[in-house]
Amino acid sequence: MGSPDYSDGCMIALYPPPELAAQLAVEGGLPAEGLHVTVAYLGPAAGVDGDALREVAAELAARQPFTAQLAGLGRFTGGTKDVLVALVDSPALEDLRRDTLDVLYERGIQVPREHGYTAHMSISYLDPDEAAPLDRIDAQPVEFTALSAVHGTDRADTPLAHPMESVAREAFATGWALSGGPMTDRVRTACETAVSIATEAADDPDVLRATIDLGRLEGMWALLFQRREEQQSLHMAEVRRQWRELISRDDITVMVDRLRHQLGVTEAVDPGRLRVEALAAAKAMLRALADLSGFSALRIALRNAIAAGRAEGMVNAVAIAAERAGKVGLDWNIAFKDAYQSMERLEDLWADAGGWLGRMIDGVAGDLGRTLADGLEAGLDRDALVDAAAELLTGDAEAVAFTVDWAMTTAADEGALALYRSEGVLQIDIITAGDGRVCGACIDAESGSPWHIGDQPRMPLHPHCRCCYAADVSLAHFANWIL
Ligand SMILES: [Zn+2]
Repeated sequence: MGSPDYSDGCMIALYPPPELAAQLAVEGGLPAEGLHVTVAYLGPAAGVDGDALREVAAELAARQPFTAQLAGLGRFTGGTKDVLVALVDSPALEDLRRDTLDVLYERGIQVPREHGYTAHMSISYLDPDEAAPLDRIDAQPVEFTALSAVHGTDRADTPLAHPMESVAREAFATGWALSGGPMTDRVRTACETAVSIATEAADDPDVLRATIDLGRLEGMWALLFQRREEQQSLHMAEVRRQWRELISRDDITVMVDRLRHQLGVTEAVDPGRLRVEALAAAKAMLRALADLSGFSALRIALRNAIAAGRAEGMVNAVAIAAERAGKVGLDWNIAFKDAYQSMERLEDLWADAGGWLGRMIDGVAGDLGRTLADGLEAGLDRDALVDAAAELLTGDAEAVAFTVDWAMTTAADEGALALYRSEGVLQIDIITAGDGRVCGACIDAESGSPWHIGDQPRMPLHPHCRCCYAADVSLAHFANWIL
């Protein structure tokens, strides 16, 4: 083979992605991991300080990653060996080469200048009469994401990053910290987006201020959603606990026996009739729960969940208004306590709780009817049927959780709306949560903003909807909520 040995040399270089290198490497040529584009070759490593070279590379790496174009093959001749090369075309690479020479010059590092610069990637050394192993390569992009300082066999890579990047990341983090919000995946994603926006608008003098604001806004939303989730899981647990108290295995057994008796266990039953009877049995059993002494505790738990949802919605409305006014320092806990207390004597919460309780029972009855019918069709015996029903009613009790979630979200939206109305708000925006659960209706509601209050769609628009109303309100009325 006989490639010249450069392992005692040093240079500033760019290395292509490994997949591309593997694709370009040829038998008898340079190994894939050695393929590179020399930005500046500096001669023997012995003549250049390794640390100084690495510092130069780190300084030069403060620029955007860039994509060059592989623009075909070339064969350099005139040395003891010919060199088969891939030609590399890129204005960013020309800039990098020029900056590299400047920085090296400033540091007093000599660059041998017996050649001009032709950007290339050497693929293989060939004898002058040797045929090339490749005739042609397709033009294709090559992405460079790091700049390497190579000193003898030692290679140090510094990722290419716009100098604005770390500054913008810090600005975003500052804003986020001011908000007191939790660090979530959404916040991380928002940070990356804000950083790339800031990098593109690096010349705008206000860009860092705007990035801090974005961080604060994202932190506020993260806190808002975290608090809602906490409230919901707290109340969901309590409602479920009260629900399970009402369910007894004896009642389930009586219901199953009655259903089996009605259907006649030995005869083949028409599947349509089976479903109707199963649903009726489920409804009868669950409606009878209202006669149990524990039923009022369930109603209280649901009423408290709705009150908490409404109070949180009011706090959210003020938090959003504070954010819009560029104010920080809302004491969410004091605000929540205040808002919750103001609901102490609200009679309509009981009516609300009654309504949601009815929906909850209908929802569970639907699930239970299906479970019973499926079990009967599958030929489950009496005990297995009782087990399946008990599991549905006391296990996850999904329909219960679903109802609590929906009731609390509705309450939060109503709480926000009530607060805006009492503050004399005329125009209201709808803001989508920006997560994977946003539906088309929510996006339409958002793009229809601002709405005249009263004409806006009634949120939530779908189960698990986390989209919100937002409006400006005078914070003077909430001075005791703000630190
Ligand atoms: Zn939504």
